[in-house]
Amino acid sequence: MSHLCFLCQRCSQPLKVNHTVEASQEPKALMFISAQGETRETQEGGPPSKEEANFENLQDGAFCRTPHPPSGGTSWDYSNFTLLGRLEPRRSLDSIQKTIRDSFDILSGETEVDHPLCVDCTDYLLEALDIELAITESDVQNYKCCLETREWMSEDERELLQRKLKGLELEEAKLHQEVAEVEKNQESVAADLEAAQAETKMLEQQEKQYWKDYCKLKWQQLELNEELSSVEMRLRYAQIQWNKLEKTDIFNATFEIWHDGPLTIINNFRLGRIPTVPVCWSEISAAWGQTALLLLALANAIGLEFQRYRLIPCGNHSYLRSLTDDCAELPLYSGGGQNVFLHNKFDQAMMAFLDCMQQFKEAAEKDESGLCLPYKIHVKKGLMEDPGSSSGFYPIRTHLNTEEDWTKALKLMLINFKCSLTWVSLRYGRK
Ligand SMILES: [Zn+2]
Repeated sequence: MSHLCFLCQRCSQPLKVNHTVEASQEPKALMFISAQGETRETQEGGPPSKEEANFENLQDGAFCRTPHPPSGGTSWDYSNFTLLGRLEPRRSLDSIQKTIRDSFDILSGETEVDHPLCVDCTDYLLEALDIELAITESDVQNYKCCLETREWMSEDERELLQRKLKGLELEEAKLHQEVAEVEKNQESVAADLEAAQAETKMLEQQEKQYWKDYCKLKWQQLELNEELSSVEMRLRYAQIQWNKLEKTDIFNATFEIWHDGPLTIINNFRLGRIPTVPVCWSEISAAWGQTALLLLALANAIGLEFQRYRLIPCGNHSYLRSLTDDCAELPLYSGGGQNVFLHNKFDQAMMAFLDCMQQFKEAAEKDESGLCLPYKIHVKKGLMEDPGSSSGFYPIRTHLNTEEDWTKALKLMLINFKCSLTWVSLRYGRK
């Protein structure tokens, strides 16, 4: 067995030409074999051209039509390209090559496709030719029809059709012109389109940026709104508090004075004691502290500075400092053990306190809306005077005094303070 190698002229796949040598000198079969597998050797060495076809063991004889393709599957019957020649013994290799080449040239000349072709390409070509044939047959039918129509058509009708044809030709020319114009415009339109696309891209980027900015600002707005509502809430609360405080009297709110029987109470501390109600001395001292604070607040309200003493309120350890007597401290508190001494320091402190109160009274009386206290104060003797009472005078000291009288003196003093509170609230409280 031997073969010639060619390339498919459509897909460039290598093909092999086989011719079977029969012992009885019968015509040899010419076959093209798809070179997948069998022609690998050829592919690796570079596909051979028609002219470089390789011949091997070429036997004498002619290429003949092969009636039955040999079994083997991949072989292809090249019956369409049969070469017939005389069975001359000892034909040369060149002669055979030339014959094949010529036959391919003839085939290539008749069709638009070059030869040889592989099986797949041939199938494809045949299908295409079938379709072409069908179209051509249809055209022939149409032409026949037209000819028949023309025969029985009258002269007028033909003229009419001719006119129509001319009109259509004119229209065609016009349309061609329009197409040319449109094609000319197309370029400028394409340029416009490109520019528009670039602009669109830029606008999209801008839009993206705007959205970004918008979101940022929106977020800021939300935050600021939140802050604003918070501030508004605080403002409203402050306004309410302000209104409440405006109606509040600072003196009356800070100092509460009332009485429970013989005892007077200032800010929940009882000032004074009687045998039936032995108030503890620490409570009395605390009550003195509140009273001292009240007197100092009243003096500050009218801008009074005490002479001789300096009042220092300090809870249940409040005291007065003498401004004349070598800065001596007079305690306005007691543990209850002061009774036995004449002029003990607690008594001195209370008398000094009455002095300060008198100073306030005198200063307040000078004001146009003068203060008028119900009970007189006798500073030198340390007495409170109750004009409506039978006994009249009540000492503020504890020495040689009864608890009842001392408590009464303290009560009169606190009633005076209550009147002072009302007066100072009306006069100064709203300032
Ligand atoms: Zn092919």
